[in-house]
Amino acid sequence: MGAGQQFEIPQGWVARGFRFEVEATTAEQQELTRQHFGARRFAHNWALAQVRANLDARAVDPAVPALGWSLPALRKAWNQAKQQVAPWWRECSKEAYASGIADLVAALHNWSDSKAGRRAGRRVGFPRFKARRRDRGRVRFTTGAMRLEADRRHLTLPVIGRLRSKENTRRLQRLVAKGQARILSMTLSEHGRRLFVSVATIVCHPSRTPAEPDARCGIDLGIGHQWAVIAHDDDTIQRVAHPAPWVQTHIKRRRVARQRSRRIVGSRGHRQASAKLAALDRRAANLRTNQVHLLTTTLARRYGTIVVEDLDIAAMGRGMGRRAFRRSVAQAGIGKVRPTLAYKTAQQGGRLLVADRWFASSKTHRGCGGYLADLKLSQRAWACPRCGTIVDRNANAARNLRDWTGPVAAAVNGDRDAQRGGVAAPVPCVGDHGGQAHVLRGRARPQKTTLAVARADDTRTKPSSTGARNPEQGCRSACKSQMLTDSATVAAPGLLRTRRSA
Ligand SMILES: [Zn+2]
Repeated sequence: MGAGQQFEIPQGWVARGFRFEVEATTAEQQELTRQHFGARRFAHNWALAQVRANLDARAVDPAVPALGWSLPALRKAWNQAKQQVAPWWRECSKEAYASGIADLVAALHNWSDSKAGRRAGRRVGFPRFKARRRDRGRVRFTTGAMRLEADRRHLTLPVIGRLRSKENTRRLQRLVAKGQARILSMTLSEHGRRLFVSVATIVCHPSRTPAEPDARCGIDLGIGHQWAVIAHDDDTIQRVAHPAPWVQTHIKRRRVARQRSRRIVGSRGHRQASAKLAALDRRAANLRTNQVHLLTTTLARRYGTIVVEDLDIAAMGRGMGRRAFRRSVAQAGIGKVRPTLAYKTAQQGGRLLVADRWFASSKTHRGCGGYLADLKLSQRAWACPRCGTIVDRNANAARNLRDWTGPVAAAVNGDRDAQRGGVAAPVPCVGDHGGQAHVLRGRARPQKTTLAVARADDTRTKPSSTGARNPEQGCRSACKSQMLTDSATVAAPGLLRTRRSA
């Protein structure tokens, strides 16, 4: 849906996306598909040219009337001009032009909101003209003859017609047939020479209860070999290995990327190498996504309460200096776990708690409360200063999270975000940082400091002299990142090897 279209999801329904890989059933469809992608791009570029011309004219002479940025206004302008600028317009569905203009409207609003500070996240630039080689082909249909065929093998789009799905469409088709799902739009898009149809739907969602509604579990996420460590309710510890998709594909990927760089852009060889590269990247992404879904579905079906920690993945990926580290943060896909859990727990009738970002789950001994002030990052196990027990770092952290009773970072469940599919809400900074925002500066290397063991009566959070970088003050994010830096060094020798040889 484009910007400005406000759609209220009815009570008891949730928004869901379904994606099917499809292939053309006739020879003409391939051409038709390309035409629609081009038509969308053309309308987008035409509308952008109008907006820019208007902005330029108004910069010179403020008396020039402003061109409205709404979808109806721009569509109207397009409909008046299309006979002149695109006499071939009848060959494509009107939805192709509408989707190009709608996306431009969304982009313009993102830009102006970002400029005015009304939009969180990265700054958004002014929309750019799309070129065929740089724009991914896509077109969205919101009206017309679009449906899933009863044979569960085909989808029908307006003008383009029947496309064969490579996968059975049963999971959506039976909901539609029973009236438990409504299709809002279908988007045909191209990813690495493959065609996909994304179906945006709302699904009637009966309330469910997890298998163990009163049980809790805690998850400690990392980017090392122990990707996720889960403390179950019965106190068993489950360790899930890292999917390591990059390690699996990077050697081949490097060869193919070099091959491609030696070929002429736009040539057949270049296209072939690009397709190979895309296939490798798709495999890595699939491995990663699969792992996240496997973990989150199993847990959300089972537990009434799931506790995760509040990691600032974006900051980890941004500020942590070493490229290999940033890459392993991105490749581990741990940023996906929390939003996925947010909507899955809501679906299954459980709840997700996000522990306060400054909770030192790794260095507080669960049970006795002994606190190791300066836990070195390489230490996978440490001796509790209070009771002398050898503590397994990740298992202890997961248990601490499971038993977390302190402040919760965000009420993830029950709000519209969970209903929208787990788009994370902006998280209020709960930890006591003296009102100061937490800033990561420079490289966070494992600090070569002496082991400062807290006294027996010293449980935690004593202000220290080294400022925010010192984990003892509760700077959870920095110490977590450091821990991860180290585990990356330990766990992924492959990354280091490539870095040296690169
Ligand atoms: Zn202890």
